[in-house]
Amino acid sequence: MEAAGCKSFTENPFWRFATYFSALQIRQAEATRLPTIFTITPTYTRLEQKAELTRMASTLLHIQALHWIVVEDSVNKTALVSSFLVKSGLPFTHLAVKTPPNVTKSRGALQRNLGLKWLRDKYGASRPAEGVVHFADDDNTYSLDIFQEMRDTKMVSVWPVAFVGGLRYESIDLDSSGKVRAWKVKYDPGRPFAIDMAGFAVKLDLILEKQQAWFNPYAKGGYQESSLLEDLVMLEELEPRADNCTKILVWHTRTEHPSTGLDRGFTDLAVEV
Ligand code: UDP
Ligand code: MN
Repeated sequence: MEAAGCKSFTENPFWRFATYFSALQIRQAEATRLPTIFTITPTYTRLEQKAELTRMASTLLHIQALHWIVVEDSVNKTALVSSFLVKSGLPFTHLAVKTPPNVTKSRGALQRNLGLKWLRDKYGASRPAEGVVHFADDDNTYSLDIFQEMRDTKMVSVWPVAFVGGLRYESIDLDSSGKVRAWKVKYDPGRPFAIDMAGFAVKLDLILEKQQAWFNPYAKGGYQESSLLEDLVMLEELEPRADNCTKILVWHTRTEHPSTGLDRGFTDLAVEV
């Protein structure tokens, strides 16, 4: 039998705490060494907004060293999104810009551009720690793996996206050396970068270097991604991810607008949905 005060190392509460605490410190140190992922999300007020943001936050909470830039399509930041972000427990930046009525084709373009401007204003003058920027619409579905795939982006990394362009998935054709050769898409394959917004990530340095690279809010359908990427990178410089673009790690899901036809004042409007 062990005498009191002579407990084994692992049973001793002090050492257990010390071991746990240093493991925590190591985890935190590892997180600070990781390039930060900046996730830019445009979002707008509608019945399903909080549900979409909740689903996204539940994913992002699993990711170390991530900063969520949420840009509302509204004149002012709303109370709903403001309190949601505070409660989310995620590191975030909250911005707002209203899309003017003459911008009809490129949903989210002005919001993504404001996210880029925030990054350039904050990090442009200083040499920031390593970072990666990507654009994540609030209604898509993201695997945890995709964040790991994009984390070590050198310039621009790319991967397939499911449920887009009239296909099960849009992908990318690689040559025998693993370089991008062509877009495996059916919808307008002549686009310079025939890739969905959910299919790429950009190194922060490149965003800061190319100050004139923006999304064109007047770009025609399917050309918004090209309007930014053309100013950042050449086809042969793209870095394929997701096992040479053979795995689906992102889905361009869309949420059905909920029917509230029977409500007509039945539920309490003071209850936030
Ligand atoms: N969005 C926006 N304002 C709008 C419509 C959409 O900010 O008027 C956002 C939306 O929340 C999403 C992104 O822009 O994050 C893309 O919009 P949507 O998912 O409707 O586009 P789609 O899936 O049809 O390409
Ligand atoms: Mn969408």
